[in-house]
Amino acid sequence: MKKKYFVNNSAQYNGDHEVHVEGCRWLAMAKDVAYLGEFESASDALAVAKMRYAKADGCFFCCNSVHES
Ligand SMILES: [Zn+2]
Repeated sequence: MKKKYFVNNSAQYNGDHEVHVEGCRWLAMAKDVAYLGEFESASDALAVAKMRYAKADGCFFCCNSVHES
């Protein structure tokens, strides 16, 4: 099933722009996010996020399969 993914426009302390799934509580706390689209997997969403931000990373909580840093 596809889920809606978002990227945080504000980088976190290490420069990463975190990717979140709709409903993640960390997404709800982010002030400035961009909608990426609906994807089958977090890795697909991360690939699109990396077109926007060179340093993009999956959220530890909702995209742990693609979380690196
Ligand atoms: Zn998240």
